[in-house]
Amino acid sequence: LVAPDGTTKPTVFAEMSALANVTGAANLGQGFPDEDGPEWIRELAVSAIRAGENQYPPGRGIAALRQAVAEHQYRRYGISLDPETEVLITAGATEALTAAILALAGSGNEVLTLEPFYDSHAAAIAMAGAVHTTVPLRPHEEGFRLDLRALRETVTERTRVILVNSPHNPTGTVLSQEELEAIAREADRVNAVVVTDEVYEHLTFDAAEHVPIATLPSMWDRTLTISSAGKSFSLTGWKVGWVSGPAELIEAVLAIKQFLTYSGGAPFQPAIAKALLAGESDISELRTRLESRKDRLLTGLSALGFRTVRPAGTYFVCADATAFLTDEVPDAAAFARWLPREVGVACVPVSAFCRDGSETASLLRNWVRFTFVKDDATLEIAIERLQALS
Ligand code: PMP
Ligand code: GLN
Repeated sequence: LVAPDGTTKPTVFAEMSALANVTGAANLGQGFPDEDGPEWIRELAVSAIRAGENQYPPGRGIAALRQAVAEHQYRRYGISLDPETEVLITAGATEALTAAILALAGSGNEVLTLEPFYDSHAAAIAMAGAVHTTVPLRPHEEGFRLDLRALRETVTERTRVILVNSPHNPTGTVLSQEELEAIAREADRVNAVVVTDEVYEHLTFDAAEHVPIATLPSMWDRTLTISSAGKSFSLTGWKVGWVSGPAELIEAVLAIKQFLTYSGGAPFQPAIAKALLAGESDISELRTRLESRKDRLLTGLSALGFRTVRPAGTYFVCADATAFLTDEVPDAAAFARWLPREVGVACVPVSAFCRDGSETASLLRNWVRFTFVKDDATLEIAIERLQALS
């Protein structure tokens, strides 16, 4: 995170957005929508500011939002939560993830993630001083799939936390029932806690269905489930997240969270509470819009000669850029830094989501991630510009 000379590296998303800005490239790199979430939800935050909800909210989050999270988990998944003790509001899912890892793991512990993994997962494990182990997700016709044998071999008595992410960034995979059961079995076998990042829970396509791993038999007691409002309501800048699970685990996360931020932004909390209760139609409209953008980008990329894997969820498509690599641009890391300047499109190399030198990093060396959470005009411009590759 911080090099011995004291310098820090920006995240790959910050780097790629900066490059898109200076080159004027269509930014299919960093995953944030270029349309704001529903006006009625934004107006609720404005009203809350006018009504004086501008001082620290309770550290656990306002009661209305904790109740709305509990109501949402019950209505969607049949998970019954006590909003007093089993729900904690955080500054985005990022804070919930980091606080959970810091609370549960330290030096001598292993934290296992899928690989590729979201960048903040690896950073949280490093901050905790724990050892990061990984299990590959490999590209197949029907999606990136978890190596179940590697899972069995990598989970050991030292594994304190299994960090799951489904729907998965960057691959767009929605873990299957069989994959979730395999993870649950391993967590049970070594008595590990499962921390599950479900920020894309509502953004699934075709017939894919998101199943929270906490709903599998015997998993409730050992699972912390994390989500946020950013993706579901296209309000990524509001940074309203939450974590739910058994009271003892939530207390442990709170112990860390209280000294990271103490609380999140007050006026956003009542707005998101109402969004969770009354925003179903907004979520399904967003899903429909994203589904057609995903199809448009997939068709465009395949026609150009990228090998793509159809995502079952999220904002992202991963594509193998091998057909476009040269001696000067030998891998996806170089391609992603070359493309904005030469072609006018930004993307992210999948190697940024892998450990340096890992088997997965080498398998996905030529892969890039494109986001389709951009308006139709931006997507059309990007696809048109990419024609220059052929
Ligand atoms: N987890 C994953 C997998 C993500 O893709 C993101 C953000 N795009 C986050 C967590 C962060 O969520 P938040 O903005 O709510 O902190
Ligand atoms: N999660 C977003 C992505 O994957 C980026 C969020 C960030 O920049 N930290 O692109």
